[in-house]
Amino acid sequence: MFKYDLIIIGAGPGGYTAAIRAAQLGLNVACLEQEPALGGTCLRIGCIPSKAMLESSELFREANEKFSQHGIVLPEVKLNLATMLRRKEQVVGILTRGVDSLFKKNKITRYLGHGRITGVGKVLVEGQNGNTGLEATNILIATGSKSAPLPGVETDGDRIGTSTEALSYPEVPGHLVVIGAGYIGLELGSVWRRLGAKVTVLEFLNRILPGMDDEIAAEAKKIFERQGMEFRLGARVTAAKAKAAQCVVEAEGSTPLTCDRVLLAVGRVPNTDGLGLESVGIKLDEKGRIPVGDNFATTAAGLYAIGDVIRGPMLAHKAEEEGIACVEKLVTGFGHVNYNAIPGVVYTQPEIGSVGQTEEQLKTAKTEYRKGVFPMLANSRARTLAQTEGKIKILADAKTDRILGVHLIAAHAGDLINEAAVAINFGASSEDLARSCHAHPTLGEALREAALAVDNRTINL
Ligand code: NAD
Repeated sequence: MFKYDLIIIGAGPGGYTAAIRAAQLGLNVACLEQEPALGGTCLRIGCIPSKAMLESSELFREANEKFSQHGIVLPEVKLNLATMLRRKEQVVGILTRGVDSLFKKNKITRYLGHGRITGVGKVLVEGQNGNTGLEATNILIATGSKSAPLPGVETDGDRIGTSTEALSYPEVPGHLVVIGAGYIGLELGSVWRRLGAKVTVLEFLNRILPGMDDEIAAEAKKIFERQGMEFRLGARVTAAKAKAAQCVVEAEGSTPLTCDRVLLAVGRVPNTDGLGLESVGIKLDEKGRIPVGDNFATTAAGLYAIGDVIRGPMLAHKAEEEGIACVEKLVTGFGHVNYNAIPGVVYTQPEIGSVGQTEEQLKTAKTEYRKGVFPMLANSRARTLAQTEGKIKILADAKTDRILGVHLIAAHAGDLINEAAVAINFGASSEDLARSCHAHPTLGEALREAALAVDNRTINL
């Protein structure tokens, strides 16, 4: 029986980051992962491969539609999808192997196999060549999530599939139907639209991107429609079946659709299969999540959980923050996550970024606020990039001027939003942001102008 200070089940961004931090703090750490490659869904079949495909497909679109504006004339732009897919796999390989190196550097013991809790402080690693029993003072569950199924939608791992299949279609579908206008549907729908597919998005609600600020989501929909994406809102999908060479998708509020491929993207559910939680008396909540207290402790002694298996947004960076806070609290007695300063990014073109409260949340809470909006059209750097679509919105407390929320659709919004997250984390006012010198010409100046707009004193509009 091998004994550790901490056993972490799952080597996704939450688990591997927690393992490294715990090792830095002097713990003897083991990390269990059932997949041969480390890095979890995010690195293997999520954030990283999708961003690689988003980058490649956007370059393809620009070469077709935008290069000529810059005076770059290409005789003919051709797609080599096999090369594009190979590059994506190379990016994934480099990053997952990088986690292996980090584990070696930090002296973290890695076990390949499925982790099953068998009692307080006890884990069984079920590997291909037999089982290994482990013991630990503390155990941290970081097993992430998997695609949510939808009754009536018969996924076949090929033509009717999830994001995993949509990252590797061997040819550009003639017509792709996407079920769900959330993060995954819009990102992967964009990839195949740019590569030439007709894309129809069926969304149950009467809007896209639920949870995001309404004004920004409405702007996004207009832009995506200009890019050729078709939306059917108020369409609740009830069935999807593969029939001969085609798929048929049925939805309430929409005529049936015949297409080549279907991407199911209606959310994700926590991964707790075969974890042995019953052996320590843990009962899942109504959404299948592991209930935890403030310091990520479950109801079982010495058992903690972070990331997609617990409450809160299913985001890699949220899991990382929680992993660090959890092990720091264990070792030092202090550990904290500011859930109000966790940004969300949709990596479409333009990207969409959001942090803090939306305007709708402020209205519901009857919080008095002031609002500053600045269009990217008036930002000089956006003009030089020929990426002037979108806008930035800052919401600040009407009395204290403290920034409560920042929402933007703009080129490189995924990078711009981090400045807003830092501002919120430090309790900055819109005046603080407005009085911070921003380099010229940069996209970040638009964020400053939006902060000036809170007080009706933009300069460049
Ligand atoms: P999501 O929750 O973002 O969106 C799912 C959408 O499906 C919703 O708009 C919902 O109304 C719709 N829907 C549900 N049932 C439906 C039905 N029967 N018919 C039609 N529409 C229906 O989920 P997702 O896009 O699958 O993403 C899953 C998770 O992965 C999210 O929690 C997200 O945070 C995470 N993710 C994040 C990123 C990123 O950070 N860039 C990228 C991908 C995924």
